[in-house]
Amino acid sequence: MTTLTRADWEQRAQQLKIEGRAFINGEYTAAVSGATFECLSPVDGRLLAQIASCDEADANRAVENARATFASGVWSRLAPAKRKATMIRFAGLLKQNVEELALLETLDMGKPISDSLNIDVPGAAQALSWNGEAIDKIYDEVAATPHDQLGLVTREPVGVVAAIVPWNFPLLMACWKLGPALATGNSVVLKPSEKSPLTAIRIAQLAIEAGIPAGVLNVLPGYGHTVGKALALHMDVDTLVFTGSTKIAKQLMIYAGESNMKRVWLEAGGKSPNIVFADAPDLNAAAESAASAIAFNQGEVCTAGSRLLVERSIKDKFLPLVLEALKAWKPGNPLDPATTVGALVDTQQMNTVLSYIDAGHSDGAKLLVGGKRILEETGGTYVEPTIFDGVTNAMKIAQEEIFGPVLSVITFDSTEEAINIANDTPYGLAAGVWTADISKAHLTAKALRAGSVWVNQYDGGDMTAPFGGFKQSGNGRDKSLHALDKYTELKATWIKL
Ligand code: NAD
Repeated sequence: MTTLTRADWEQRAQQLKIEGRAFINGEYTAAVSGATFECLSPVDGRLLAQIASCDEADANRAVENARATFASGVWSRLAPAKRKATMIRFAGLLKQNVEELALLETLDMGKPISDSLNIDVPGAAQALSWNGEAIDKIYDEVAATPHDQLGLVTREPVGVVAAIVPWNFPLLMACWKLGPALATGNSVVLKPSEKSPLTAIRIAQLAIEAGIPAGVLNVLPGYGHTVGKALALHMDVDTLVFTGSTKIAKQLMIYAGESNMKRVWLEAGGKSPNIVFADAPDLNAAAESAASAIAFNQGEVCTAGSRLLVERSIKDKFLPLVLEALKAWKPGNPLDPATTVGALVDTQQMNTVLSYIDAGHSDGAKLLVGGKRILEETGGTYVEPTIFDGVTNAMKIAQEEIFGPVLSVITFDSTEEAINIANDTPYGLAAGVWTADISKAHLTAKALRAGSVWVNQYDGGDMTAPFGGFKQSGNGRDKSLHALDKYTELKATWIKL
């Protein structure tokens, strides 16, 4: 537990030496073109660093290095127990540097420092150590062959993995990929979002300190349409893992088809329903959860409970509880440890969120709270947590992912209607169900087309369970042993006896 104050964090921010270069073959390096772009903080608009703007030439260099390192066997053929020990050291270095990494994350993308410290960095470290710990406890198979045959079913690392990640949990999403990718012996080229590249660049050096050989983890900052596209089209990338929007996810499938049919695993967007039945066991808990489900991380969460489905008979009692709970979620300077809601990642994202608020008004939804940009004088990008009532599921604010703190309240009268509304979306990432009736909880959970369903809670989970989407929320899963499938090929070896 840190006792640092906002003034302490500010002072540390002034003293930070921020690295903005790419990391290839164990060394920081400028982009081949020499191009850079500015990294601005959404906290107050300050310039944080010049970042290497990588493109195809850098992608070629990094993939070539990753391939050579993979082929050398220095990591890919290392005994799993040794990879385990290294991954655990890598996780330990994230924890040792938790304050620096948390500060970078908060300055870079605007989330509260308390969240960066207590959620993002520890979660990222956990993703590395959990996969490291698992990797020497997994066995291959012997097939049920005839007597004169020996059939071995073995898993091999895929080779070169490109990982393209978003800005909302920059370090955490990167480590959900790096944990299983590295533990299984692959070489990785990581492309962080252009909006939040700092922690990915920093941990590349920590990987070397941990003993991960040079060339196994390369980091290429830059734009999606330049270096991201180059990786997705690269003929020598074996697997592309992605977290980001559904729009780009679809594009990546096209790039794979146009190039080498690389495996493509996608964690994409969401528009998750949070269903509160009249028999919810604890309406206060449901209200607090509904508020955090839309306000945590400024609503920039793929699983944000952005559609609150409330049974009509309790609505008048329940909504005031949600409004009360939302008072705990007030935007403020993210470097203040008491702040619960920080800045949106940048001006572009803020304008997107504000345009959805306009759409809510013009479609006839009723604004209950919020709806405005605030703290403009700071130079930062802050928007009040916002609730619209009287939303129908056909409205734009109910159909499209806003990726900001804007909640749509939709009323229903029966379980069947709630399930129909919940599933009436192109997405299928997550859902919440609040009821004291165990059968209704199970039957509703089964009927929901979503990768995660939470009963009498919202957004629980740890490394032990898979995470990912149905429908246009993606394919494959992060976390748990199921994630290893994305980073390994199955080989059948038949030996005639
Ligand atoms: P985004 O799709 O705009 O960008 C994601 C990444 O893709 C970035 O690194 C970006 O530079 C890159 N990219 C953009 N265009 C590209 C192209 N043509 N080729 C290759 N790469 C390209 O998403 P975002 O705005 O960074 O993140 C928000 C989205 O991420 C939301 O939709 C959210 O739901 C989703 N998300 C999903 C999960 C999940 O686990 N399902 C988790 C977090 C975020």
